[in-house]
Formats: sequence, structure tokens, C-alpha cells
Amino acid sequence: MEKQVVDGLREVFQSGRSRPLQYRKQQLRALHRFITEHQADIEQSLKQDLHRDIYTTSIFELIGIENDIKLAESDMADWAAPQHVKKNLNSALDEVYIKPEPLGVVLIIGTWNYPWAMILQPLVGAIAAGNAAVVKPSEMSEHSARLMKELLPLYLDKEMYQVVTGGVPETQELLKQRFDHIFYTGNSPVGKLVMEAAARHLTPVTLELGGKSPCYIDKNCDIAVACRRITWGKFANCGQTCLAPDYILCEPSIQDRIVKEIQKTLQEFYKEDPKSSPDYCRIINTRHFDRVLSLMNECTIALGGENDRSQCYIAPTVLKDVLPHFKIMQEEIFGPLLPIITVNDLSEAINFINKREKPLAVYVFSSDKTAIKRMLTETSSGGVTVNDVLMHYTVNSLPFGGVGNSGMGKYHGKHTFDQLSHHRSCVIRSFAMESLNDARYPPLTAARLSKAKFFLQHQLCSCNGVCVWAVIATILAIGLLVGLIVVLI
Ligand code: NAD
Repeated sequence: MEKQVVDGLREVFQSGRSRPLQYRKQQLRALHRFITEHQADIEQSLKQDLHRDIYTTSIFELIGIENDIKLAESDMADWAAPQHVKKNLNSALDEVYIKPEPLGVVLIIGTWNYPWAMILQPLVGAIAAGNAAVVKPSEMSEHSARLMKELLPLYLDKEMYQVVTGGVPETQELLKQRFDHIFYTGNSPVGKLVMEAAARHLTPVTLELGGKSPCYIDKNCDIAVACRRITWGKFANCGQTCLAPDYILCEPSIQDRIVKEIQKTLQEFYKEDPKSSPDYCRIINTRHFDRVLSLMNECTIALGGENDRSQCYIAPTVLKDVLPHFKIMQEEIFGPLLPIITVNDLSEAINFINKREKPLAVYVFSSDKTAIKRMLTETSSGGVTVNDVLMHYTVNSLPFGGVGNSGMGKYHGKHTFDQLSHHRSCVIRSFAMESLNDARYPPLTAARLSKAKFFLQHQLCSCNGVCVWAVIATILAIGLLVGLIVVLI
């Protein structure tokens, strides 16, 4: 079944249907129409999957997808155009450029926490780059997956873009097939399985993974504003955001102040009882509910902790004096628990971060430029936001992705187009000037080698016209002048 799907898409892709930019734009417009005409259905599916309110869905999912669609529509012609590059003297008369071209059939495997953005944002780039695609939404956000399967084919070209639903067995069956790129979003252990499966066909992968993103609060900062921003980023979507600050690092002297400020903000955001707040989500299922709850075991609860398994509800929870060896510090939390770990100073915070896997994001709150600079230069992560959380995700000119254990490859805006294109190196020559090629033909001699060096080692600019001819004219003129002098002497 999966083989038939992929074979069918490849055949249509090879017919060249997706090559014209006009076709790609049409498909993107159709995707945009789908989102606008079915926004209420999408919101409803997320209400059922995650108890998500409509505003969060717009802010966290739909705006990003729409921005990427609009950008691709307006800039795709530039992105897809040949990019002329610097030449050497040897290629001075050639056309030398990079041509982005479609890869073929792309597999996009998504996760459940933002089920629409994690599938449709990569899909925008896949379409813009001229690929065919199979999309596989997560079975855990089942209402979203069902809606995608039902409605997307009504808008997009079914022979080029297909939705496959199902769980692990279906995904594994898909992974046996040969794709030209696999774009996976999910956890790191499954990321490794995806990469293993891709290796069998030498298929390149993008892995958008997670990890524990640290958040350092310097005592020299506006702690109230810092805590307001952190509370928003941590507890939105019930903590099930890959980029959410996983834990706080701070000096012991400000720990209680942080707890107090978060408490104040939680009251402002979700009122006395977050369970009855329309803005507070639920854990995706009881398996994850049990997993998240078990992470609290050894911890001292400073705020929250209330829960209700029948509703997959866990209150926004802050845990204080958490120690590095606690279970909660051994895995990504991906839920509404916010541990605070105290460190003596910035250096200890940096060491703490560097002893662990490279995270998807690092956050630092400080008014001290030196402290910020140290955090930026002495740690590594997929991205960084200073004095806020999540914001680097919202700028689609920035590449979004992880590093090391938090993933490989990048996307958003033009970066998705580039990620899902092959950048083909092209040199177009004529039959003229054959004598210049003597330098590389046998019988090779020292004189030919020095001529070859001369032509290969001299770099010219990337423009195709006037200055190349100016250089050639100068060389010829110098040659003529030298010849003339020799004759005269
Ligand atoms: P998940 O369980 O829905 O898995 C993701 C996909 O992998 C699904 O489509 C599922 O069918 C498939 N899958 C699961 N197990 C598989 C297996 N054994 N073999 C083949 N396919 C399999 O989602 P998840 O992994 O729980 O997602 C949460 C993780 O995703 C977190 O770690 C989070 O940080 C990360 N995430 C990362 C980003 C990012 O952009 N970097 C975004 C969202 C989530």
C-alpha cells in the first residue's frame, strides 16, 4: 500500500508537473484556502485533541503557516532562480551558477503537540521547492490527523501530495520506502530510528527534535518581566512545546522571588483555578499524563501540583531546589512542570548547560551585556532568545532547527525551500578558446602546470559580464604589450 503511494507520487513527479512555478503557486494558494476556509474545523480538532483555545491555535500554529505561504508565494521566483557565483579565471567565459531543483518525493512525519504547523510548515517548503510529498500526521492528535486526511486532498493535487494516517506500524512501513528526503519532527530516540531507516536508501534527513532547553535568570534583570514571559512560554499548550523553557537556573538568592512572580502571573493568566480556564490546555493522553506526573516524585512543589487523570489535567507547577540527579532532570519534561535549579553564578550555569546535550534553545534573562555575551559565546543550542522565550521561532528569516541531540537541518521561510531543494552546481561552456585548455591536457609539463595554476587560482567576481571581459582584455593587452616590447628590442 505505502509502496504504491510512493511509486505513484514519484511517477507524477517525474512527469515534471511540479516544475513550473505557476503550479507550485496554485498549490500554495489552495493550501492557504484550505486553512482559511477550515480554520474553525482546525481549531475544533485542537480543542478535542488538546483542549486548546482558538487564540493559541492562531498564535502558535496558523499565523506561522500563513506567513510561510505568503512569503513563498511572493519570493519563490527569486529562490528558484539560478544564483550566479564567483568564478575563477578558468571559468571566466562560462556561465557559472547554482540552480535549486526539486529533490523528488519528500516524507514529512509530524508530531502531536502542534499537529498542523509541524506538518504544513514543512509542506509549504516542499511544495515551493517543487517536490511531491507524503505527509504522516501523528496518531496521538487523532482529531487533527483525521481532519487532515479528510480535507487536504480536497484542496491539493492528490497525485502529488498524499496524507497517510496511522501509528507506529504504518510509519515504519513508510520508512521502508525510498524517499528523496525525510523531514521528521518528534523525539530523539525515534529520530535515530528514522535516520537508520533513511540510511538504507542514503536518503537525507531533517530531524526536528527536542531536549531540555535551559533558562538562566540573572539576578541583574527585571525579574517580574522575565517571569511573566517565562510563565507564558512554559505553560502555553500545557508545557507541550519543543521550545518551552525546560528548567530555570538561578542563584539561590532570587529563587523565592521567581516563585512569587510566577505565581502572580499564573493568577493573572489562568485565574484561581487553571482547570476551568479556557486558556489552559490538557496533556495529550494518559500515557504522557502518567509520565509527566512521575517526574515530580522526588521534588518539592512550590506551586501547583494538582492533577486529574480523568481529564489529563496537570496544574501549572513550579518545583524548587531541584537537584541535577533527580529524574526530572534526566529527560525532556514536555509538560507543565517547571523545576528551578540553583547555581552559584553564571559560570556554574554555563557549565551546567555544557555538561548536557545541546538543547534546542537557550534562554538568558539579564541586563548585563557581559553575562549575555558569555552565555551566547560559551554555550551552543539550536537557537537563542535573550530576555524572552520562543521569539526566535517567530522570525521566519531565521533558520529554525536543532544541533547535536536536538536535531539537524533547518526550516522556516526560505530555509525550508533550501532544505528541500538540491542546489545543483552548473557550469555552461562554449566550444571557443580551446587553446586555453592546453594547460590541463597531456603531455603535461611544468609550463602547462604554471599556466593551469594561473587560470585556476585567480578568482573573479560573480557578475557575468563587463568585468570578466575587462580582465580578459587587460590580460590580452598586457600580452600584446609584452610581445611588442620583445619585437622592438
Ligand atoms: P509522536 O509520538 O507523535 O511521534 C512522532 C511521529 O513519529 C508520529 O508520526 C509517530 O507515528 C512516529 N513514530 C513514533 N514512534 C515511532 C517508531 N517507533 N517508529 C517509527 N515512527 C514512529 O511524537 P513525540 O515524539 O512524542 O513528539 C514529542 C517530541 O517532539 C518532543 O521531544 C518535542 O520536543 C519534539 N518536538 C520537536 C519540535 C521541533 O520543531 N524541534 C517540534 C515539536 C515537537
